[in-house]
Amino acid sequence: MYDYLIVGSGLFGATFAHLAAQRGFQCLVIEKRPHLGGNIYCECMEGINVHKYGAHIFHTNNKEVWDFVNRLVSFNRYTNCPVANYHGKLFNLPFNMNTFYQMWGVTTPEDAAAKIEEQKAEAIAKMKAEGVTEPRNLEEQGLCLVGKDIFEKLIKEYTEKQWERPCSELPAFIIKRLPVRLVYDNNYFNDAFQGIPIGGYNRLTEALMEGVECRTDTDFFRSEYRNWRRHARQLVYTGPLDEYFGFCLGKLDWRTVCFKTRIIDTPNYQGNAVVNYTSHEQPYTRVIEHKHFEMFGDAVYDLPKTIVSEEYSSPYKDGMEPFYPINDSRNDALAREYHLLAAKESGVTFGGRLAEYKYYDMAPVIEKVLNLFNTPAR
Ligand SMILES: Cc1cc2nc3c(=O)[nH]c(=O)nc-3n(C[C@H](O)[C@H](O)[C@H](O)COP(=O)(O)OP(=O)(O)OC[C@H]3O[C@@H](n4cnc5c(N)ncnc54)[C@H](O)[C@@H]3O)c2cc1C
Repeated sequence: MYDYLIVGSGLFGATFAHLAAQRGFQCLVIEKRPHLGGNIYCECMEGINVHKYGAHIFHTNNKEVWDFVNRLVSFNRYTNCPVANYHGKLFNLPFNMNTFYQMWGVTTPEDAAAKIEEQKAEAIAKMKAEGVTEPRNLEEQGLCLVGKDIFEKLIKEYTEKQWERPCSELPAFIIKRLPVRLVYDNNYFNDAFQGIPIGGYNRLTEALMEGVECRTDTDFFRSEYRNWRRHARQLVYTGPLDEYFGFCLGKLDWRTVCFKTRIIDTPNYQGNAVVNYTSHEQPYTRVIEHKHFEMFGDAVYDLPKTIVSEEYSSPYKDGMEPFYPINDSRNDALAREYHLLAAKESGVTFGGRLAEYKYYDMAPVIEKVLNLFNTPAR
């Protein structure tokens, strides 16, 4: 008899198992995939850790979470500085003085701010002339927030590829804010801490799962563990919320990303880990060159080949990876009903992005588990 049967070995399940085992509880982790780690799993190809389920950059402002993961593994100095490619012209992201210089040739914050304000005012005046006071859709919202040039070259078509709908038909609330930085700073995150585990994310999973019994290729619903009370006192479930209840109220919708990953016979393909393609010219949204997450400067040339993944935003169908919850009114209402059912399940903890039907970055998932154990992170 285990104290905990943990379904899923992603960051939620693995962190839970780690903290429970530290406190002397007997845990069994079951995982339906052939490997541990959930979406942070990396596959080694040509000596490069490939982020198989999408590029993952660890970032947090929470010092306790940062100290917790750093006691398990060391992190490198990776700083996320994506670049946007619009019809072959490159712009730094997030929008900052480098971007404004590339866009308009302005060199001072004052000139950049004036240019943005001028274009925002144009958009607002155009709406007013049509008798509109509030943006009616994402296109109007974007134009009012940053003006024509930034919206049209860096946001509009990228967003249309993500949602497969024109911005003029998307609701304005999808983009609430579009921060602009009047400093020369290409660091995508504002957090105090960021990096990639040295040696890749699998090291973090291995450290979390050390000494914990686990079984891969074991689907909760298609194994003896479905009758979990025969095996454990408590269940920690990190799989899809609707699946736990046999989809009895209907299916929750997701969006996903499909990856086309290839080996290229050059040591350095795009010179950066992340390049966003912001026009319809390319059907993919981003190209990830994985080696740049862990190799810097001349070290990039130590390996003769490179691995790149094109990312294609797609609607979710059965058999695909459910990546992003769709927080529209139908899905939010359905998730609330499932949460009510979940609250009535005795002995079961529902946690993580699938079981909560909520997008979580990695650090908040860890924080959540640390809080469950009600301890300072150690
Ligand atoms: C494309 C993408 C990019 C991301 N990039 C970042 C980033 O840059 N930075 C960041 O901080 N966060 C990022 N995230 C978020 C990060 O992936 C999550 O925070 C993290 O994966 C959450 O862990 P989890 O345990 O909740 O879920 P998961 O990692 O999905 O783990 C759930 C596990 O449960 C298993 N499972 C499901 N059903 C069953 C079953 N029936 N039986 C057995 N096992 C089951 C699954 O196979 C999976 O291994 C990204 C997410 C996505 C989708």
